[in-house]
Amino acid sequence: MLTHSTILGYPRIGPRRELKRALEAYWDGRLGRAELDQVGADLRAATWRRLAALGLGSLPSNTFSEYDQVLDTAVLLDAVPERYRAAADPYTAMARGADGLPPLRMTKWFDTNYHYLVPEIGADTPLRLAGDKPIREVREARALGYATRPVVVGPVTFLLLSEPSPGGPSPLHRLDDALAAYADLLAALRAEGVEWVQLDEPALATGAGVAEARRAYDRLGALSDRPKLLVASYFGELGDALPALAATGVEAIGVDLVRGGPVDPAALRGKTLVAGVVSGRDVWRTDQEAALHELRRYPDVVVSTSCSLLHVPYDLDAETDLDPALRARLAFADQKVAEVVALADRLARGDRGRAPVSEDVAAATESTSDSRAPYPERAASQAVHLGLPELPVTTIGSFPQTGELRAARAALAAGTLDEPAYERLIEAEIERVIRLQERLGIDVLVHGEPERNDMVQYFAEHLDGFATTRHGWVQSYGSRCTRPPIIHGDVGRPAPITVRWTRYAQSLTDRPVKGMLTGPVTIVAWSFTRRDIPLREVVGQVADAVREEVRDLAAAGTSIIQVDEPALRELLPLRRERQDEYLQWAVAAYRHATSSAGDHTQIHTHLCYSNASEVITAIDGLDADVTTIESARSGGRILRELDGFGRGLGPGVYDIHSPRVPGAEEVGDLLDAVLKVVPVERVWVNPDCGLKTRTYPQVEAALANLVAAARERRP
Ligand code: GLN
Ligand code: ZN
Repeated sequence: MLTHSTILGYPRIGPRRELKRALEAYWDGRLGRAELDQVGADLRAATWRRLAALGLGSLPSNTFSEYDQVLDTAVLLDAVPERYRAAADPYTAMARGADGLPPLRMTKWFDTNYHYLVPEIGADTPLRLAGDKPIREVREARALGYATRPVVVGPVTFLLLSEPSPGGPSPLHRLDDALAAYADLLAALRAEGVEWVQLDEPALATGAGVAEARRAYDRLGALSDRPKLLVASYFGELGDALPALAATGVEAIGVDLVRGGPVDPAALRGKTLVAGVVSGRDVWRTDQEAALHELRRYPDVVVSTSCSLLHVPYDLDAETDLDPALRARLAFADQKVAEVVALADRLARGDRGRAPVSEDVAAATESTSDSRAPYPERAASQAVHLGLPELPVTTIGSFPQTGELRAARAALAAGTLDEPAYERLIEAEIERVIRLQERLGIDVLVHGEPERNDMVQYFAEHLDGFATTRHGWVQSYGSRCTRPPIIHGDVGRPAPITVRWTRYAQSLTDRPVKGMLTGPVTIVAWSFTRRDIPLREVVGQVADAVREEVRDLAAAGTSIIQVDEPALRELLPLRRERQDEYLQWAVAAYRHATSSAGDHTQIHTHLCYSNASEVITAIDGLDADVTTIESARSGGRILRELDGFGRGLGPGVYDIHSPRVPGAEEVGDLLDAVLKVVPVERVWVNPDCGLKTRTYPQVEAALANLVAAARERRP
């Protein structure tokens, strides 16, 4: 057995984001390769020491990554597309791009906010053991006195997450080649004296890959020259994959008992259950009694986390400002490790725990209160009310955030700048942004969001039921981290949040200024949420709060309100059969939040991404009057599918993810493509997303070109 307690993985960015700083310095040429490697080695050593000090039985290794564990796996297996091989540093080139070579595509790791790089696997991509990172980490730990269990992304998940090279077959066709490489890896680890290896197969929780998993682990399980195998699933139930894995020769199966629910002990067919009873996806303490009660059901069990602790912050002890009553309910990574250890001790002592009391959670009562007239009627009254020109030009909300603003916010938090002085700075910035937009000839203005650090954190700081942390960073991708707020109680809006700034901005100009809010799903998706009531109820409470803000903005005379919902897909259940139900209530929550606007008030939504069928479904469901989406990057590909689109549409004609300034002609070409499929009276002209990360010179030049292209096409 795996000495009764383990975790599936641990954060790696560093308790003070040491890896982030080192990586960014390395990319800028301020730090050498050897120094960067040393920062990594120090973080790994600190992790093993910490886990051992906390009393954990079996320590994982290879949970460190310089950028991403899926990219690590691709490099380990030599699955490097030809075009990156000549780069000075192929790993960094795949992660970040180099010499005009774009990086690999990046996408969400299942339903988390972590993003991985998508490997590209064609018919001829090599798949063979080419690296030794897991072996090096085993040696490194051993030198410090620790025997570890290397963690590697498993073959089925690796191939399911990869994309075919253009025109090539599905990467799953390469399963046999991949298995040969994994067999070599297992033999090499065995030769190194490794006792256990963990192969991560979270993709099995989506319902995919069952037959492939059976084939893969039949083959790997039958090898004579290998360490013992733990196949770890997480993020949901295994379903048919559980009996499939149990029928193979692997020694242990990791199951997410938090999200996936209990399993039938008989279905394990004598395998060791690595029981994920401590959640790696939230920041709450575990109900130890209920967990023990569950653990007692299985004859051969190791206490573990539901998934890697990568998705939670390091240590609650760093949060000295939190309300003590809330603190008492929280657990970050180190506290969760301590819970795993405590549970394993109690289990070993024969402690039984007690059955959980089932709480009757009242089904969310839904009052959509759709008080708005149908879209065509509203559109007519809005057109009269707003009196906008054809092809109105607008932006998505934020303007560049200057260092001066960030310094002012830090000074306010530190108490060296008082509230009135801070507000005067914000007002001055709003005025600057309004004047700039007037000068450029933009039709629908924004206040620029200078008062917001982040589109979710800002609202979390102003709503009841949310707490924010100081050091609670969680890796999003590469060196990027977010600090998700914590929803710990019923959500309420004690006072209007944005009305003051929107009203001020509107007082400066005759042109309409858009109110700017974040939607209920996005606020919840980018926070740690409660576990004691259903997700949909939490979203419903936030929707109530947004609804009050929409009502107050409209009452203050705001004629256009944009409610961003870029994370609409992020809470989508992993299993297809549950997705429709989710979309129905998520979209209903958005409608509830926005329908407190009158018919004259135009509702805009912004979705960041553009997947045509989803956009169409979402737009009809969301019932917004105008939708702005990403499209400049995909060369307007989405447009073909939006033929005859029935509402206002603003496909982004300026890719704000790049410092490049598009010329007026280029913008015009994109607009002409839009005008071929969407009637001119419904088309808006805008960038892809907020301008926060760009500089003023870039933004001014690009927006001037947007205005020029729009004006040229007006009657
Ligand atoms: N209104 C936000 C902004 O402009 C939208 C950001 C987003 O879509 N991610 O910054
Ligand atoms: Zn966006």
